[in-house]
Amino acid sequence: MTSMPDLDSEIHAVAKLVRAASRIAVLTGAGISTESGIPDFRGPQGVWTKNPAAEKLSTLQHYMNDPDVRRRAWQQRLQHEAWEAEPNPGHAALVALERSGKLKALLTQNIDGLHQKAGSNPALVVEIHGTIHEVVCMSCGDRAPMSKALDRVRSGEEDPSCRACNGILKSATISFGQNLVAEDLRRAEQAALDCELMVAIGSSLGVYPIAAVVPLAKQAGAHIVILNGTPTEMDGLADHVLRGKIGEILPRIVAEAEGTVGV
Ligand code: NAD
Repeated sequence: MTSMPDLDSEIHAVAKLVRAASRIAVLTGAGISTESGIPDFRGPQGVWTKNPAAEKLSTLQHYMNDPDVRRRAWQQRLQHEAWEAEPNPGHAALVALERSGKLKALLTQNIDGLHQKAGSNPALVVEIHGTIHEVVCMSCGDRAPMSKALDRVRSGEEDPSCRACNGILKSATISFGQNLVAEDLRRAEQAALDCELMVAIGSSLGVYPIAAVVPLAKQAGAHIVILNGTPTEMDGLADHVLRGKIGEILPRIVAEAEGTVGV
């Protein structure tokens, strides 16, 4: 019977890799924000795990063609956990890692803005699936703060339209059926090619094309570390897989790499 190496020795090994690397890329998914009170989609307590039908609400075609879907989407946005959420020790650990000068890119699937709220340099953050903090017009491309659109919903507009052209407004997130921003994907792929160490944190690594940066980094010669509470689709290609709570494990790795705890 094979068993996973014990967590302490894996943390020690990964801290060593962090210390040795001069170019690190990190990819985060919804799992880094669950400890801030924002549920993930596919984890054990995930929104889609509990209610598979909810996935349909995130599909562009339904959003564009069905006013009822848009009305429901605006109501969900009003209630979104991101407005109240605060960064947790996992986000803070990445800010500490950035201070070492080694973190060259923070690729995130998250739309919640918590990396920037924690103090990560916005220039390093690539929000590959967009942000919920802005709205975009699906006709003219005009962007505006989400808070202003939500004020309109609160004052009675069920499906507020673009002030400039009356087009359909949507959160500036990437829905199913919608292309990624080409420049964001290019930056993510470049980061994968340039890094010596890629750390994937809190993602099931099943959402493409962004998940493909992990094998891309591997092929380019980087070490791969995966930190997630449950198995991911890419555990097999990782040099180290750490299984447990991100808010507990990530600060330990960064502290040990920095030499601020006994090594
Ligand atoms: P996912 O839901 O597919 O996977 C999240 C993973 O994190 C799961 O495997 C789960 O086991 C793990 N996890 C959850 N909490 C954890 C914790 N405290 N410690 C360790 N592991 C934990 O998420 P995904 O792969 O990022 O894909 C979902 C997509 O939906 C994302 O690409 C994103 O665009 C969007 N999304 C964003 C947010 C957000 O912005 N916070 C939240 C939900 C979904």
